Amino acid sequence: LAQLFRPLDMLGWVYRTIRQGLIDMEAMFGIVDTPEEVRDLEGAPALHVEAGHVRFEDVRFGYDPDREILKGIDLEVKPGTMVAVVGPSGAGKSTLSRLLFRFYEPTAGRILIDGQDIRRVTQASLRQALGIVPQDSVLFNDTIGYNIGYGRDGAGQDEIEGAAKGAAIHDFIASLPQGYAAQVGERGLKLSGGEKQRVAIARTLLKNPPILIFDEATSALDSRTEAAIQETLRSVAARRTSIVIAHRLSTVIDADQIVVLNEGRVAERGTHAELLRRNGLYAEMWTRQQTEREDEEAEAAE
Ligand code: ATP
Repeated sequence: LAQLFRPLDMLGWVYRTIRQGLIDMEAMFGIVDTPEEVRDLEGAPALHVEAGHVRFEDVRFGYDPDREILKGIDLEVKPGTMVAVVGPSGAGKSTLSRLLFRFYEPTAGRILIDGQDIRRVTQASLRQALGIVPQDSVLFNDTIGYNIGYGRDGAGQDEIEGAAKGAAIHDFIASLPQGYAAQVGERGLKLSGGEKQRVAIARTLLKNPPILIFDEATSALDSRTEAAIQETLRSVAARRTSIVIAHRLSTVIDADQIVVLNEGRVAERGTHAELLRRNGLYAEMWTRQQTEREDEEAEAAE
């Protein structure tokens, strides 16, 4: 009998792994065209993550052969540190995370995790190691508890609540008449952008991946929600390798390293203070965002 169940068990595992991969992909890439299929090499081993060291080596990429988007990117995220990627709209920030997820392959150069070329390992193992909090999180037409529990198969209610607490969304859920059984999605409760992102953070906390990619929402959030998300992000990112794609520079002033992308190249890199002293593109973006913020605050006060 055991012999009969082993393949079934295996099938279950394959199904769960694929399902996890799919939810991440849908969540993150629901907005882009379906790319050509990226396949595992024959006999590819699983990715073995120890420290969680991420490295882009002279990575080039274009969605179309005649338009290069990334023009030779070198990037290192040391284990347990946070690197923020900033830069003008269309600079290629989200493209970097799509390549790390191996949704597309670089046309030249390579991406390594703990020394292993991500092209040479199984995709299931790669996606298991990465946690993604996308810009616009997709919620299923199901309960809010289910939407969080999706982060890990077999998660119990206490674990789901623990993750919700970590993502600062538990109090909100507890205040709903149906609590964790409240229906969300198209036919249920409509959550705000900030609430949806916190559900995605809770899902990621439950998955507990060694490497985290956080794609900050471009949509404007009220300053209280923004502060709450930043606070949660800090705790989620602590002690794991994190890449934060940020639109608001104020989100990432504490990052260990800030990489400024411009037209597919790294224009500047350093800490917030170093980049301000440099008085280049980052300093210019910072001044502009500060002025915008002051204007908004002045308007709100009127
Ligand atoms: P933003 O700050 O606006 O989110 P970004 O820096 O993240 O921008 P990307 O999303 O990486 O920019 O896009 C970089 C460039 O690649 C853009 O010019 C965009 O139009 C192009 N691009 C993105 N996705 C695709 C796609 N699926 N097919 C073709 N071109 C694409």
